[in-house]
Amino acid sequence: MLWKALIITAMVSGGAALAGCGAPSDRASRPAPTQSSSDISAFHAGLMVLDSHLDTPIRFHQSGYKFDRKASWAEDGTHVDLYRMNEGGLDGGFWVIYIPQGPLNETAFQAVRNAALMRQTAIREFAARYNQQVELAFTRDDAVRILSAGKKIVFQSMENAYPLGEDISLLETFYAGGLRMIGPVHFRNNQFADSATDIAPLHDGLSPLGEQLVREANHLGLILDGSHASDDAVRDMMALSTTPIVLSHSGPKGVFDHPRNLPDDLLRDIAAAGGVIQVNAYGAYLEELVPSAAREKALAGWTAEYGGDATGFSVDKLAAMRTARAQIDAEFPAPRSSFETFMAHLLYMLELVGPDHVGIGADWDGGGGVIGMDDVSQLPRITAALVDAGYSDSDIAKIWGENLLRVLADAEAARTSGLSSPVLVQ
Ligand SMILES: [Zn+2]
Repeated sequence: MLWKALIITAMVSGGAALAGCGAPSDRASRPAPTQSSSDISAFHAGLMVLDSHLDTPIRFHQSGYKFDRKASWAEDGTHVDLYRMNEGGLDGGFWVIYIPQGPLNETAFQAVRNAALMRQTAIREFAARYNQQVELAFTRDDAVRILSAGKKIVFQSMENAYPLGEDISLLETFYAGGLRMIGPVHFRNNQFADSATDIAPLHDGLSPLGEQLVREANHLGLILDGSHASDDAVRDMMALSTTPIVLSHSGPKGVFDHPRNLPDDLLRDIAAAGGVIQVNAYGAYLEELVPSAAREKALAGWTAEYGGDATGFSVDKLAAMRTARAQIDAEFPAPRSSFETFMAHLLYMLELVGPDHVGIGADWDGGGGVIGMDDVSQLPRITAALVDAGYSDSDIAKIWGENLLRVLADAEAARTSGLSSPVLVQ
C-alpha cells in the first residue's frame, strides 16, 4: 500500500504534478520499464482506481442482492461486487442512476421521476447497508478521505436526464442526495438533447431546456457528461458550460466508426477545454461484432414469439420471455470484443489527447466487458498494458482517477449555488 499512501499524500497536499493539466507525457522520453507482474500488482493496488460508469445500482433493488457475495461473469453475467473490486483494485467511481426512457409527456415524466428518486434512494441504502465497506462521496476531498479509510468510493451520476421531466429545479433535489454528474440524453432524443444514436436530430444539439440544464448543473457544481449525446449536443454543452465536460463512457471514431464514438476534432476540443474522455469497454462500440447465423435465427424466433413490446405481459409471460432469451444467449453466445481491441481504443485516445485527458469508464454491469477482461477483477491488465506501452507511473495514476477528480474539483470550484453543505451530511 506504499504507493497508495504516496498518492494520497500528494493529493491531500494538492500536488501540482498530480493535478496538473496540459503537461506533456514523459512517455516518449523514457524506455518502457520492465517490471515483474508482482511489481505491476503492487503498483496497481496502490493507485486510486476509479471507473466513471458503474451501472451496478440497476441491481440494488433485486431480491437477494448481496454486494459482499462473490459472483462471476460466467455464472450470472455481472461485473462488480466487493470481492471482485478488491481483487481488481477498483476503489469505486460514479454509480449510475439510470431509468429507461419512455414517452416525452407529463404522465411518463412523473412515473420516471419517482423511479429515479427510488434509484438514488437505493444507492444511499446500499451505502448505509455496507457502511463498513463503502461510503458516499460528494467532493474530490471525500474521495481521498474514503480511500485512505480503506473503503470504496460511491459518487453518483445520472445517465439520461429524462427523469427530470421539464422541471429543472429537480436537479437540486438529486444534488442534495449526492448527484455529482449528469448526462442529458441516452439512446433516443429527449426533451434536453439529441442522442448520438437516434434516427434524426430533433433539436440540432441541445434544446432550450437542455441549455437550462447545463446552466443549472454549473450553478450547482455537477459535472456534465456528454456520453450518448450527439456531436452537436456535445458541442453545445461545451459552448455553454463554465467547466470542462466529461465523456463518462465513450470511444474514438478514429478506431471504430460508430455513432457512440466521437471524431478526433471533437475529442481534441474536449481535452483542450480541460475535459476528460473515459474510454468504454462496450463491445458493440469497439468493433463490428457479427452474430452467428444460428444466433440470428434463434433471436428472430424469440422476437416473433414475444414481439417488441412487453407492456401488458403477465408475470409468467415475462419470466418465460427472459428464460427463453437466456437460453439463446447460453446456446448461441453473442459475439464479444477483446481486451486487445479495448486497448487499441484506449491507446489511440491517449495518443490523440494525452494522458491528462483520458480515463476509464468501462460500462460495468451495463454491457461492458471484453474477452480477457470479463469483469473488474481483471483491471490490473490495463495497468500492465499501459506500463508496457511506456506510460509513466504518474500518467497511469491520472488515467485511473486523478483526471476525473480534477474535473469534479473544477465543477466544485465554479459552483455559484448557495446550497449549504449540511444537507450533504449523511
Ligand atoms: Zn451508456
